Amino acid sequence: MRKGIFRSLLLLASFSTLIITLITTMTSYTLLEKSTIASLENQAKSLATGLATFGWEDYYPLLQQLPNNLRITIVEESGEVLYDSFASPNNLENHGDRPEIIEAKRYGIGFAKRFSTTLTHQTFYSAIQVNDQIILRVATQVQTIYNMIKNMIPYLLIALILVLLISSIIANKLVDTLLYPIEKLTSSLTEPISYDQLTIYDELLPLVRTIHQQQQAIQDQIDTLKNERDTINLISNNMREGLILLDQTAKVLAINQSAASIFEVDAKQFIGKSFIHLTRNPDLNRCVELVTSNQHIDIIMELSGKFYHIYGCGVETDGKIIGGMLLLVDVTAEQLAQQLRTEFTANVSHELRTPITSISGYAELLARGMVAEKDIQNFAEKIYHETGRIKELIDDLIILGKLDEGISQLEKESTDLSAIVEQVFNRLQPKAEQAQVQLTKIGDELSILTVPSMIDEVLYNLIDNGIKYNKPQGTVTVSLVEEGETVKISVADTGIGIPKHLQTRIFERFYRVDQSRSKHVPGTGLGLAIVKHIVHTLGGKISVHSQEEQGTEVTVTLNKY
Ligand code: ADP
Repeated sequence: MRKGIFRSLLLLASFSTLIITLITTMTSYTLLEKSTIASLENQAKSLATGLATFGWEDYYPLLQQLPNNLRITIVEESGEVLYDSFASPNNLENHGDRPEIIEAKRYGIGFAKRFSTTLTHQTFYSAIQVNDQIILRVATQVQTIYNMIKNMIPYLLIALILVLLISSIIANKLVDTLLYPIEKLTSSLTEPISYDQLTIYDELLPLVRTIHQQQQAIQDQIDTLKNERDTINLISNNMREGLILLDQTAKVLAINQSAASIFEVDAKQFIGKSFIHLTRNPDLNRCVELVTSNQHIDIIMELSGKFYHIYGCGVETDGKIIGGMLLLVDVTAEQLAQQLRTEFTANVSHELRTPITSISGYAELLARGMVAEKDIQNFAEKIYHETGRIKELIDDLIILGKLDEGISQLEKESTDLSAIVEQVFNRLQPKAEQAQVQLTKIGDELSILTVPSMIDEVLYNLIDNGIKYNKPQGTVTVSLVEEGETVKISVADTGIGIPKHLQTRIFERFYRVDQSRSKHVPGTGLGLAIVKHIVHTLGGKISVHSQEEQGTEVTVTLNKY
């Protein structure tokens, strides 16, 4: 626009200069021509009067003194040239056919103009019939209008340059004044300025005011949209669930932080890219196909080792599908819990089925009288032993159930650890004697703030394992050591030990090391799971050090308070 206005103004100025110059030149030329003709006629008349008065012989010397820009010719009636101030009459042809001479002969006065051969000049002729014998002709030469214009060209060019220069300065200033307020307003859309601060032509005020109002309306809308976008971003980026918005061609329109973390990508890089760039998982891409064709999704899928519940649906506006949405909810914990529950139920059923099958078998033989008298006692003992296994399992399950419910309601109290160790030793002494294992306690008398029944359970399980997985003549040593704000309770045995790669698994529910020696030792596989559960509930730590055929040491660290 700026260039357009500028160009038009310059063109107008140049054109005007040209036209004015031409008109002025033509007008001046016409005036010049008129005055030249009038003066030529006057001179012809006065010369003719003189000639008529004095006669040719007397007038001739006078003619010699006239200014030599005038050409004076005296022509006889016959057209023969009698005198010519510019040339010898002998060299001149008969003038009888010249228009001015013919006209003078007919009307007493004649006029003609003729161009020179170069067209640069023209000659004006004025002829007057002096008497019956002679005609006087006066001629003067003036430049033609073309020549005049040609001579004007350098001045015209100078004038044009000056006009262009001046008008470009003026045009620039004018354009600036005209456009500045509009440019200023439009160039600062993001940061509106007040139009009161600008110098504006009155005629432009309504336009500028309208632009200003529209600009403010746009700015308000931008602010509103920005706020809405910020709010949506804030919500979606603080969501723990992954959220992905797609257009109909499966291009990612928005992806929140959680979704970007699930696919291990930078969210910003994926805006505008096709979903396939995010993941090549065929199942997930199938989900995208479905949601972008307005179908609902509700499935659980495994992605990078985690389980996600994926909800999806199409996005509609005015009854037209414009894209789709996916919501990914991490349900790994629930899935694992479900898995554990299933495994747990299967394990419990299995562990119960084995002794019950044995009991049922023995009982059936007894009931049918198929057992010899001397073996009845043996059978009864087997039934008693298997019932003991079931009871032990049920007891462990009850404890685990209680632990799963939480033991926070159990009151902590000052607990003498040495006393509990002694009590457990007393209860397990017969078992230890039977296994030829010696029980020893070392360390200080220690009291801590804890739940005594839970400590009893921990110690019972650890010492029981120390006896069960020991060798004859072996030992189980319980040591109590105070370390700052904590106490360390360790139970070390000199038994069969646990292979290194299985040391972390022994804390799993129902896990039992399938080792030739431990295979025949009765147990539920729940003892250490219970111990670990209690220690964690009490805020402590548990670790195991073991070497095959050397022995095992399990250490429990608890806070004193
Ligand atoms: P269990 O009822 O079988 O003893 P636990 O949970 O107490 O169940 O122990 C799990 C497994 O860890 C046991 O089956 C055993 O193989 C191994 N284990 C536990 N304590 C010891 C130990 N002191 N020495 C060797 N092996 C052990």
